[in-house]
Amino acid sequence: MRKRFFRAATVSIVAGLLIAFLFAVPLMQQVYTDEIRERLAAVLALAGEMDIPDGDLSDTVARLSGRLAEEDTSVRLTVLDEQGFVLADSAADAADMENHAARPEIREAMASGTGEDVRQSATTGDRQMYMARRVSGKDGGTRIYRASVSLGGTNQVQGTLWLCGGVGIFMGLVIALISAHYAAGRVVEPLQSLTGAARAMAEGATPAKVEGAPDEMGELAGAFNTMADRLAAAHAELEQANDRLAGILQGMDDGVLAVDAGGRILLMTHRARDLLGDCPATARRLDECGVHYLAVGDILKRVMREGGPVRETLSLTPEERTVQVYAARVSEEPAGGALAVLSDVTRLRKLEQMRSDFVANVTHELKTPLTSIRGYIELLKSGERDPETARSFYEIIEIEAERLQKLTDDLLQLSEIENGGAEPDVPLTSLSETVERAAESLRPEADARGIRLHIFVPPELRVRAHPRRLYQLMKNLMENGVKYNREGGILNISAAAERGVLVIRVHDTGIGIPPEHRDRIFERFYRVDKGRSRELGGTGLGLSIVKHIAGLYGGDVSVASEMGVGTTFTVRFPMP
Ligand code: ADP
Repeated sequence: MRKRFFRAATVSIVAGLLIAFLFAVPLMQQVYTDEIRERLAAVLALAGEMDIPDGDLSDTVARLSGRLAEEDTSVRLTVLDEQGFVLADSAADAADMENHAARPEIREAMASGTGEDVRQSATTGDRQMYMARRVSGKDGGTRIYRASVSLGGTNQVQGTLWLCGGVGIFMGLVIALISAHYAAGRVVEPLQSLTGAARAMAEGATPAKVEGAPDEMGELAGAFNTMADRLAAAHAELEQANDRLAGILQGMDDGVLAVDAGGRILLMTHRARDLLGDCPATARRLDECGVHYLAVGDILKRVMREGGPVRETLSLTPEERTVQVYAARVSEEPAGGALAVLSDVTRLRKLEQMRSDFVANVTHELKTPLTSIRGYIELLKSGERDPETARSFYEIIEIEAERLQKLTDDLLQLSEIENGGAEPDVPLTSLSETVERAAESLRPEADARGIRLHIFVPPELRVRAHPRRLYQLMKNLMENGVKYNREGGILNISAAAERGVLVIRVHDTGIGIPPEHRDRIFERFYRVDKGRSRELGGTGLGLSIVKHIAGLYGGDVSVASEMGVGTTFTVRFPMP
């Protein structure tokens, strides 16, 4: 740009000067020849008026010419008769000179009185201007006076002019360079900073403000700055929207994963990584990640190929996780890529499984006593039984009916706790009174097996729990403590406030619980020894009810046990 500026300025200045010279040089020449012409005319007029007699001609001409030479006017003077013979000449001997009648200026002067010509002189050899004038002397004779002067001076003038031109062009060039430098500074520099800013903008950087003088460049810079500001604002808005969208996607409980038609990852949320396992941060494609990603990749490929949303469930091993994949094309075109939404349905599936297990268990638990009852009724109906046998049958039927009763009671309790939701106005219930009541109901059975009950519950301890529920909880734990105790064993019930938590411990000296069962005994219908539990009238729901009641009031329950030594159940409640 700067170079072009210099070139344009130089060319225009040189061309301007050349054109000026092409016009000026002939003009100057014209002025110069006009000057010479006037001078010749003046000399001829003077000589003509002198009217010199023939005898003095040569002398007078030589004198006159000498005088003119003194005045620095090197005019050659020639006098001719009317036939064109040279009478006298200031530069040569007249006798040696040929007849001049054929010379154009002489011919013209003879014909019209004055004549003029410019040519190479045969006598002096250089370019001359000739002027002739016809003069009638007082003696009646006619003479022709001719004055001539060398035009060599014009060449000198021409040379000087061209020299001036050369100097002018050189000076012009210097001026052109200087002014182009300043002009370039005014035009090129703002343009360069504009270009730099535009380039920075194209590369994604925020361009600095472009300065400009208050002229057209300044207006351009101003317009550019406004455009850059608008673009930056639009960019910021877009980024904000993107961040918001990314935030929403990242905040979703479901994982989101999107790929383009070539299988390159466009989007993968943290949740998607959580669900599908590790994938290197540098991975660009799903096949660079783990095996679970390949399974999702296959679904996405199928969706891109065949279209239509797809819903599939993946069972991930060894994580034992069930993930539901909803996959669909991002746009109508397969080239637009595809998107998968991943939902963790492990808990849901487990719940479904638990529900169906529960139904199966309940059915089974109800069926066993019912079958037994119906069997004995059939036996009683089928024939005469002696009163002893009949009574034992009735007793069995009664026991089974009681079992049914207990089972339905426990089931009802469980469903009440599970579906009851939060209870309003939960009262403060005395723990020692509750424990005493439960002990009272268990005493006959405990006494029958020689089990001693030791109760260490400070009377001031209260639990924010419904009295009926707290009683169910304590009764179930204490009942187990009696049921699974050894003959003549001990059941300890203690409670204390420990660091703001109410801790209740129910410790027995019974059979203990094998370690592998300890985590599962709180599940519904789970029993360590099914036969024994049934025999003792258990339903397999007691500990499940305990766990639910503790949870209902913000507490929890845990177990510690030693085989053949005893078991301790610990319930923790927040202090009211
Ligand atoms: P159940 O009605 O069979 O007693 P629970 O839910 O109360 O049902 O208890 C589940 C199982 O946990 C029992 O079948 C028993 O095997 C075991 N268990 C519970 N409490 C004790 C305990 N104090 N000592 C030993 N085993 C126990």
